[in-house]
Amino acid sequence: MIVDGAILDADGSRPGYVRLRHGRIVEVGQRGTASDHGRERRLRGIVVPAPVNGHTHLADSVSVREPPAVSLAELVRPPDGYKFTLLRRTSDGEKRRAMTRALRGMRRDGVAATIDFREEGLPGVRLLRGAARAAGVRAVVLGRPLRRPIDRAELDALLAESDGVGLSSAREESAETRAAVARACRAKRKLYALHASEERRESPRDYLSPRPDLVVHLSCASEGDLEQVRDDGVVVAVCPRSNALFGRRPDLATMERLGVRLVLGTDNGMLRPPTVWQELEFAYLASRLARRPVSASYLARAAFVEPWRLLGTPSEARIEVGGSTHPLALRLPPDDPPYQLVSRGSGAAVIRTGSWVAGRDGR
Ligand SMILES: [Zn+2]
Repeated sequence: MIVDGAILDADGSRPGYVRLRHGRIVEVGQRGTASDHGRERRLRGIVVPAPVNGHTHLADSVSVREPPAVSLAELVRPPDGYKFTLLRRTSDGEKRRAMTRALRGMRRDGVAATIDFREEGLPGVRLLRGAARAAGVRAVVLGRPLRRPIDRAELDALLAESDGVGLSSAREESAETRAAVARACRAKRKLYALHASEERRESPRDYLSPRPDLVVHLSCASEGDLEQVRDDGVVVAVCPRSNALFGRRPDLATMERLGVRLVLGTDNGMLRPPTVWQELEFAYLASRLARRPVSASYLARAAFVEPWRLLGTPSEARIEVGGSTHPLALRLPPDDPPYQLVSRGSGAAVIRTGSWVAGRDGR
C-alpha cells in the first residue's frame, strides 16, 4: 500500500509518500514519485508514528457516568475520594473488563501505547497487564506501592512487574517516600512520575526533588516553575480536558515558548474517555479561547514524537525504513499536516492496515 501526501515525525512535517507492507515501512520517498505498477493500493493521506496517550488512569473507566459536582480533592484524592471508594467497591473482573474496553477503544483510535498510573499496588499492576494483553495496546504501567513508610520488599516486587511508579503528589507523599521510590526506580531503570501543581501551585523544590522522569498537570505552575522543569529536562504530561472540568488550564503557549518537553494525556477514565484525538483538538481550541495560542506542531509533537523519546525508543518517532514499527496512516488532506492532525484527526481517519487490523496484511 502506498500512502502519498505527507509525513510528520521527529523531524517535523514534509511532503512525501510511504510504502507499507504488512504494516511496516518499506520505502519512503518524494511525494508523487512512487511507482506502483498499477497493482498496489494507493491512498492520499498523512503517515505519522502512532500516538501515545501520555497519562491515563484507565481503571477509573469502571464509571462512565457524569462525575458528581464536587471538588477535585473530593473526587480523586486518596484514600477516600470518590474514585478510590469506587475502585474499592468494584470487583477485579469488572475493573479488568473496563480497562480492556478502554484499551480497545484506544486501539480503534490508532493509539500504540498508554502511560497509565495504576493504583492499588502490585495486584493493580497485574490487572492492567492482563487487560492490555487482551486489547493489543502497550500499557506502560506506573504502579503505586501501598505501604507507608515504603516497604522495600513490596516496592521491589512492584517494580519487578511495572514500568515504574506514579505517585499521587509531593503534597501527599513524604520526602522520604519520594526519595526511596525515585532511588529504586533509578536503580532498576524504570520511570518515576508524580502529579504536581494541579489544583494550586506547588514549589518545584518539592516535586523536582528527587528529579522525576515525568510530572503530570502543572496547570497552576508559574513561568519560573516551568523554566526549572525545562532546565531539569523533566517531561510534562498535560491533560487539558480533565483540567477544564475544574476550571483550570495548562499554559501551553508558555510551555511551547520555553521549550518544555510535552506529552498529552487524557487522565481519569471516569472524567473523560481516553481519546487522544479529542485531547489534541481541545488543547488547540482551548488555547485559542484563552487567547494564549499554542501551535499545532507543538501539540502534534506531544502526541506522536515526545512520548517515544520518554519511553527510550526515539527511533519509534521516525517515519523511515527501520524507524517506527507502528506507523499510522490517516486519510487526511496532506496540506499543513500538524493542523490536520489537531483539527481533523479521529479514529475514523485511521486507515486500517497492518498491525491495526488483526490477521490482515498491510498491502
Ligand atoms: Zn492523573
